[in-house]
Amino acid sequence: MYPMSDDFVINKTPIEMGKNSLVKIYVGKLPSGNKIYINSTVFRSEKKGPVVLLLAGMHGDEIDGVEILRQFLRNFAPVTLKRGSLIVIPLLNIFGFLHISRDVPDGKDVNRSFPGSKFGSLASRVASSLTTHILPQADIILDFHTGGTGKYNFPQIRYSNGDIESQELGKVFNAPFLISKPIIAKSLRKVVNKAGKPILVYEAGEAQRRDEHAINLGLRGISRVLAHLDMINFEDQTEFPIIHLSGSGWRRASQAGFFIPLKKSGDPVKKGEVLGKIQDLADPIEYPVKSLRDGFVIGNSFSSIVYQGDALYHIGYY
Ligand SMILES: [Zn+2]
Repeated sequence: MYPMSDDFVINKTPIEMGKNSLVKIYVGKLPSGNKIYINSTVFRSEKKGPVVLLLAGMHGDEIDGVEILRQFLRNFAPVTLKRGSLIVIPLLNIFGFLHISRDVPDGKDVNRSFPGSKFGSLASRVASSLTTHILPQADIILDFHTGGTGKYNFPQIRYSNGDIESQELGKVFNAPFLISKPIIAKSLRKVVNKAGKPILVYEAGEAQRRDEHAINLGLRGISRVLAHLDMINFEDQTEFPIIHLSGSGWRRASQAGFFIPLKKSGDPVKKGEVLGKIQDLADPIEYPVKSLRDGFVIGNSFSSIVYQGDALYHIGYY
């Protein structure tokens, strides 16, 4: 199923079977002159098998994903790797991390800059370092994200429409929601999908905020996928019933005002059901925010004051 090649090269560094290595990939300098390297930890077993890339911190303020892979690296014993290889990159966008920002300092989003170019914008250069030095070596990619600032995502796996292999791996990961999504232009998911490789995007929690539930489910999901690939031993007694959704859309504020939420992420909702209300200081009318379809709240905003068009509830539907 997977190439299982002996040739394993990251950033022009060959790594033999049975060896582990920290490969530093240069991406650029800070104005202070400090050089920035992406740290990529590689574990290779003695036995051939799939190469799994665990990636986080594409968005520099999405801390839960970085923390999932920090804990994974701290606790992983290389001797327990039964076959194949692991590439672990806990923080791709170091520039955004330093600025506590989703993007790089010029405001561009790395996940809208793939495949990237080493002569392009900073986001494009970060994307290019992954595309050039890491992706050719990986067979399966797990990419860890959270919601944006003030936006919470109930733990969920996203995969591309029609990508059956990712769908099946998504079931193995066993997050509460499994959601099929359209391909986004210039995203990592698009580049990996085009290469015919499976990619799961784990979305859980909120930017800049630590969420133990999101972190623990992420760590458990990694172990479940690696055990499924016969790369580690892992017995999991707790199997969630997964809710499989075919799409999603945001319910937005029709009015500016004070937002009074009535639903929380994870809740089931019916078409026409009131999700929350908006009221301003001058108008006595309460404006309801209703669901357009039957489904589930898969994400929500924590904003108390909203403007017209602000995203309030992310509804996933069958
Ligand atoms: Zn993200």
